[in-house]
Amino acid sequence: MFKLFKKKMLFILVIVLSLFVISGCEVQDQSVSEVSGQAGESSGKLAVHFIDVGQGDSSLIIFPSGETSLIDGGGRDASSKVVSYLKSQGIEKIDYIIATHPHEDHIGGLPEVVRNFEIGKVYMPRRTANTKIFEELLSVIKDKGLKISVASGEQSILESDGTLFSILGPLSDSYEGTNNHSVVNKLSHGKVSVLFTGDIESLAESDLVKQGYDLKADVLKVPHHGSSSSSSDVFLDAVNPSYGVIQLGADNSYGHPHRETIQKYGARNIELLRNDISGDIKLETDGETVRFYSTDSQESSQGESQNKSRIIGNRNSKVYHIEDCSGLPNEENRVYFDSIEKAEQSGFRPDSRCIR
Ligand SMILES: [Zn+2]
Ligand SMILES: [Zn+2]
Repeated sequence: MFKLFKKKMLFILVIVLSLFVISGCEVQDQSVSEVSGQAGESSGKLAVHFIDVGQGDSSLIIFPSGETSLIDGGGRDASSKVVSYLKSQGIEKIDYIIATHPHEDHIGGLPEVVRNFEIGKVYMPRRTANTKIFEELLSVIKDKGLKISVASGEQSILESDGTLFSILGPLSDSYEGTNNHSVVNKLSHGKVSVLFTGDIESLAESDLVKQGYDLKADVLKVPHHGSSSSSSDVFLDAVNPSYGVIQLGADNSYGHPHRETIQKYGARNIELLRNDISGDIKLETDGETVRFYSTDSQESSQGESQNKSRIIGNRNSKVYHIEDCSGLPNEENRVYFDSIEKAEQSGFRPDSRCIR
């Protein structure tokens, strides 16, 4: 499925980890200036940054027009990271803030973002919370003279030059848990599409499918940090992505991502990218092809000790091998682990040729 798709759409995946190891931040700065340098004119390039906020979600979209959207702002601990990340991109205004749902790992960083940047519109679901962080977010929004737009059902946020950014859900205001109220966004640019899902679980997923939406997307922001209560089969059938991005922190107390979820994506040949492994992940597309870039990662920090590593994973198939295995992946697809446990924790499964 993936290979066919790759041929058809000339999909390109470029993980430039090795370049980052060699030249530090330089590469990121270069590609970033390419995007922000063209702000204001229709360059045709769109970028999505899945910011590494530890355990939590935060995605920044930079549209070809230079307009921006921030979907969630990570937890409170990530406030300064998110603010400095946005500043490093040359951003002064966030045109559309989307607070997917009032859980701390999604809205915790947003009060500082609202304080530090000019803000256009703020979208939230109708769901509220009796928490300090939620109250604080409401009060900074009010202090800034901003109004909240309720996200519900199908709404268009932006439509221009072959780019479409819309809201698909939540489809109900009366789900039992807060996660299912998460705002769901679909972004299309030319032939390429990305689906953002917050923390929806299987109930909201099946409602989206029943609604008859075109959920098909090349890239899926994996719902709820890779929890097994999400990513239902019916939903993955409908989205049918080539890539999944999991936003989560290493060694989180929820056990995210859940092993069965990782296996599910592996069985469907969906390539997973993870903030806990790759740091900040940037997607860039011209509407035809998709390129992924990532900054620091476990791989890069282990790069120097490659010869000493015993376990070698294939970043595409998520299979791991011992170092004298006959079926080792190509050099550029290798991920190194200190132990089998670490490989398993990262969602890799053993190769039957070398590990029984
Ligand atoms: Zn969450
Ligand atoms: Zn949540």
